[in-house]
Amino acid sequence: MPGIFSPFADKPNHNGLELEILERWDDEGTFASLRELNRGGPRFSFIDGPITANNPMGVHHAWGRTLKDVFQRYKALRGFDQRYQNGFDCQGLWVEVEVEKSLGLNSKREIEEYGLAEFAERCKERVAKFSEVITEQSRRLGMWMDWDNDYYTFSDTNIEYIWRFLKATHERGWLYKGHRSTVWCPRCGTSISQHELFAGEYKELEHPSLFVKFPLKDRDGESLSVWTTTPWTLPANVAAAVHPDADYVLRSDGTWIAKALDPEADAVRTARGADLVGLEYEGPFDHLPAQKGVVHRVIPWGDVVLDEGTGIVHIAPGAGAEDFELSRIHDLPVLAPLDEAGRMLPGFGFDRLSTDEVAEPVINDLRHRGLLLEAGTIVHRYPTCWRCGTPLVFRVVDDWFISAEEIRQPMLEANRTVEWTPDFYSKRMDDWLRNMDDWNISRKRYFGLPLPFYPCECGELNVIGSRAELEARAVRGIDQLVELHRPWIDEVVIRCAACDRELRRVPEVGDAWLDAGIVPLATLGWQNETTVPHGHANGAAQGLSGADLPDNAYWEEWFPADWISEMREQIRLWFYSISFMAVTLVGRSPYRRVLTYEKLLDETGREMHRSWGNAIEVDEALERMGADVMRWQYCSQPSSQNLLFGYGPGYEIQRRLLTLWNSAKFLVDYANIGSWTPTWQDLEGGPAGELQPLDRWLVARTNALVTEAAAAYESWVSVNVSRAFDAFLEDVSNWYIRRSRRRFWDGDEVAFRTLWFALVQGVRVISPVMPFLADYLWRKLASPAEGAPSSVFLAGWPEEATGDAELLDEVADVRRVVELGRQARAHAGVKLRQPLRSLVVEGAALARGHAGEIADELRVNEVDFGEVEASELRVKANLPLLGPKLGRDLAAVRKALEEGAFEKLPGGGFRAAGHDLSADEVLVERRGKEGFAVASADGVTVALDLRLDEELERTGRVYDLIHEVNSLRKAMGLELTDRIELTIPERLTDLLEHRAWIARETLATSLEAAGDEIRIEKT
Ligand SMILES: [Zn+2]
Ligand SMILES: [Zn+2]
Repeated sequence: MPGIFSPFADKPNHNGLELEILERWDDEGTFASLRELNRGGPRFSFIDGPITANNPMGVHHAWGRTLKDVFQRYKALRGFDQRYQNGFDCQGLWVEVEVEKSLGLNSKREIEEYGLAEFAERCKERVAKFSEVITEQSRRLGMWMDWDNDYYTFSDTNIEYIWRFLKATHERGWLYKGHRSTVWCPRCGTSISQHELFAGEYKELEHPSLFVKFPLKDRDGESLSVWTTTPWTLPANVAAAVHPDADYVLRSDGTWIAKALDPEADAVRTARGADLVGLEYEGPFDHLPAQKGVVHRVIPWGDVVLDEGTGIVHIAPGAGAEDFELSRIHDLPVLAPLDEAGRMLPGFGFDRLSTDEVAEPVINDLRHRGLLLEAGTIVHRYPTCWRCGTPLVFRVVDDWFISAEEIRQPMLEANRTVEWTPDFYSKRMDDWLRNMDDWNISRKRYFGLPLPFYPCECGELNVIGSRAELEARAVRGIDQLVELHRPWIDEVVIRCAACDRELRRVPEVGDAWLDAGIVPLATLGWQNETTVPHGHANGAAQGLSGADLPDNAYWEEWFPADWISEMREQIRLWFYSISFMAVTLVGRSPYRRVLTYEKLLDETGREMHRSWGNAIEVDEALERMGADVMRWQYCSQPSSQNLLFGYGPGYEIQRRLLTLWNSAKFLVDYANIGSWTPTWQDLEGGPAGELQPLDRWLVARTNALVTEAAAAYESWVSVNVSRAFDAFLEDVSNWYIRRSRRRFWDGDEVAFRTLWFALVQGVRVISPVMPFLADYLWRKLASPAEGAPSSVFLAGWPEEATGDAELLDEVADVRRVVELGRQARAHAGVKLRQPLRSLVVEGAALARGHAGEIADELRVNEVDFGEVEASELRVKANLPLLGPKLGRDLAAVRKALEEGAFEKLPGGGFRAAGHDLSADEVLVERRGKEGFAVASADGVTVALDLRLDEELERTGRVYDLIHEVNSLRKAMGLELTDRIELTIPERLTDLLEHRAWIARETLATSLEAAGDEIRIEKT
């Protein structure tokens, strides 16, 4: 069929059309045109939290990246100038661990044997490879970013900015080297900071559970009974803690225990914990060299728990955080039993065994020496490393810290300026800030930010703030410094500012959250004098990016970010680190608004794990469901709840999108038949011509959609966009099109204009959420209009006109009546094709002017508004409310209601047995009387008269016949316009009375009755 619109396939092939649109965008330079269009417009500053360039993107990453893209696209439609800078996180433990795996290295010693320079090269190669993979996946997802100008956190420029921050903290006296008990990963050989600990998983693990005797000195035959689940800590024991206010008993076997933990015990003697304090005991491993000279004694501790163990706690300050704190209070020796790899140090008796391996020999040894009371196992939740899953231990080590004390209050104040979506996350951030420890910034690793610390034995801590300063102070080694990474940086020797001694850098590298945390300053050129072209393409980032380093004026324009968005766990990570660093350096929050969201699970609510077989790979999802469907799934998720992602929900979305497709296809099919051409100007002022009430309604409905969607985007609630669009689509397809089919068939220009207006505006509204299908439909529907931009993204946001609210309310009432009418029919088992005599409507006052439409929709000859008498009211007592109120009278009221002895009261209440009952104190049911079907909801009641006469019955059979003939036409593959010669069965001869009607509806040029089946001949 010739026509101006290109025809539609029966259903969309999402993957295929998305690839086609991607190609069009590339060929036409659509994104570049959009940026050009908005250049100089109002600014919308978005700062991208970097994605780790370490593995392909996961479907949970695709969620976040979709949200970023949706709101940037929306802002672009609104004319905002944007930066579109994507970021990659490039160094630190996560990259190292993956490279170790791929090289088959399994300890720090093996990395050192492999060579740090080579290792750094492998890390860079991995980042280069996966930044490319992620870029490709992001493009396929529809993400529009300035892909040649990504920032990479391992560039020298980024590192120098962090150095500047570190120097500032030193100048304020916040930087210190702490000798602390720290959570430690024995495999990674590094400490784990507080926020990393939260990022790791607690696993159910089985550990030994021992009860051990500590014999008291000068108390013959008396021992302390002590419980532990970490046998490896016993060789480091120096004290035993009791609760000073608790009661303890000496049992007949000679062991002391808290009374609360063995209440049945035969007490030989009792004592308060405070009375035991100061007693000395023989340690379990006094014979070991490490224990030489240690005096073991009982100390008081108010945190001793009395609901498990023995109420006497073994204290090893070198192997536990609280123990370490107690060592400071009670001046206890600190014996640290583990090396970096979590193996026993010499002097602790179990040379080089790991914490697991040492358990059995310790138990055997204790048993052998008669110190073991009981040995078993316990399954408990135990923290593991967030990178490698290894169970964590405690070590006492030297680490570098930034004190959080002085920055805490300013950060809390900065958070008050931030608008959080959903808003309760603001409080979560406050909670984190109130409780945050000092920031442990050092990691004893290799490929990371080199901490620019040069401590001197004279007491001076030299902190370098820039590469220029390093060069100026270098004595040697500067010539081989290819980039600011180990091993090269370690070769640079500087002079102490205080005493002129030659100094080397500390070996530690920095926490990866320093790398990402500096981004709002480093990428925007804070305090940078002049723009440096490609100023972020240096160091390890050379050749990967072309990003410029802008100047301070640029920073002032784009800082703080108007909006950022990441997962909720980033409260403790990126949101925290960018805030920490910006508040330190510039005294304010680096973001004004933040959207955060929960976790992604599989569609049954389980976590996705490759090993469980329920993980979905991004590439596969893109191919099988398409980017638009994925994006729709992400956007229709309330961000305060976990997302259950999968192919099941994806299929459901595809099904719903089919309604959009079919509506557009309907318009195009009929427009081509009627040779109708769209007019671009209709989008500005609304469709031209003599609009019927239904047309005016659709225009108002469309304008209302534009307003609703804008409000949703403006408040960062994408789920409200998809909900509004869903409801709109239902109205277009299930009301407007269904009610107007005839007009399209007749080539009614106004109907075409109106539907075209609604569909095109709808496509514009939803384009940020599903850019591919939207642009595809735009190109199909709008491009034939002269003057239409080539892409929906170059057309801007639709003009917001106020809808005719009254008309919208009226039609909403009409639709409620129709919905109830359908329900009543369905209940009575009367199909819609059967015409009925009449309908009575009670309530829905606004629908009064639309009686004709209602009659048509429900196929009734007459619609009356008024009281429904064709029903019986059945009223029951709402017992939970009336029981307490009526007490003894309840029975009488129930009886009266049951017998129908009640009176209606205004406002929905009833009077029965002398009591006035309010609307909520009763349950009302309406049932149709014989021959009537009644349905009722929300104050609207409809009653259908089901009684048929001969004519109604015959008309019903005509509708059946037309339906059957048209189904046959379709099955025979006839075009919408094909004419036929129709023969109907002889037994339907009486229907020929409606000959003209049947012929019109079936495009029959001749019609007769013969034989016993329907026959169709194409003419
Ligand atoms: Zn680890
Ligand atoms: Zn010095």
